[in-house]
Amino acid sequence: MIIECKDVYKNYKEIKALDGLSLSINKGDIHGLLGPNGAGKSTLINIFASLINHDKGEISIMNQTIPKQFHKIKGKLGFVPQDLAIYEDLTAYENIAFFASLYGLRGKEKKEKVKQALEFVGLTDRQKSQVKTFSGGMKRRLNIACGICHEPEIIFFDEPTVGIDPQSRNHILESIVKLNKQGNTIIYTTHYMEEAQNICDTISIIDHGKILAEGTVNELVKLVTEYELLFVKIKDINLSQQESKLFSDIEGVKSINLEEDGIAITHNGHSDMLENVISKVKACKKQVASIESRKPNLEDVFLTLTGRTLRD
Ligand code: ADP
Repeated sequence: MIIECKDVYKNYKEIKALDGLSLSINKGDIHGLLGPNGAGKSTLINIFASLINHDKGEISIMNQTIPKQFHKIKGKLGFVPQDLAIYEDLTAYENIAFFASLYGLRGKEKKEKVKQALEFVGLTDRQKSQVKTFSGGMKRRLNIACGICHEPEIIFFDEPTVGIDPQSRNHILESIVKLNKQGNTIIYTTHYMEEAQNICDTISIIDHGKILAEGTVNELVKLVTEYELLFVKIKDINLSQQESKLFSDIEGVKSINLEEDGIAITHNGHSDMLENVISKVKACKKQVASIESRKPNLEDVFLTLTGRTLRD
């Protein structure tokens, strides 16, 4: 394991930001830390970066204890924070060179690394422009270049795609995958389920400062595959409480959720389910507009584990 956390606690006065968090991350993985706003993701990343200290618990990165032995591995870690850490009045080149200097790079080596970082994020032709002329997506890319210019082995990304256009988002996600292919371990926080599902090898689901589950996407989805989902769109729905009870009473139904234009039914995959549901719609003197059946995804895993959606 390249990162290991055991029973980590961090309080901000009465707020329990991390509440007995345990986590292990394999070398070479893109590991997604998936959780809603306020779950404790940034707090954890800031502790990994030694920007703040935890109150209790054990953390090791590359077998070094954090924060005590952080200095031994500092140069092998790269951080791309959520808030942009770049200077608007400097050029793209100057920004990266500044961070390269902080990591102890000098002279020819520094120049070379800055050049590579600019190329990596696709900003070579804008290297002499002041950052204040950049779009939001370009600033994010520059932020990444600043975090990776010293060629770290583990790179932490804190919600790098929040609030940017789809093209820049794709560019950033592709960069993350590319860095991983070059041998880097990536820790990547997000509240976007689709992103985590698409690019992560392993994922841990975090909420209220605790890890609720960890594994590959398939392993996580298996946690809830005893259930299937059925979306039944109903014309002029408007069901009474008594009528909706008809659906929750069907054998094998775990839960129902009344939506604007239909019902979402979580069930155990009983073979008569479809027939039963249709007959209940008819019993309510309504008409089915469409039916969609699907297997659970990460969003459902989260919902099942926490009772909330990621978008809450
Ligand atoms: P996330 O990154 O998942 O959105 P955070 O780690 O930022 O979550 O926050 C976890 C909890 O700690 C939240 O309740 C947040 O309000 C609180 N918190 C974070 N930073 C501070 C701080 N500097 N002072 C007080 N409370 C904080």
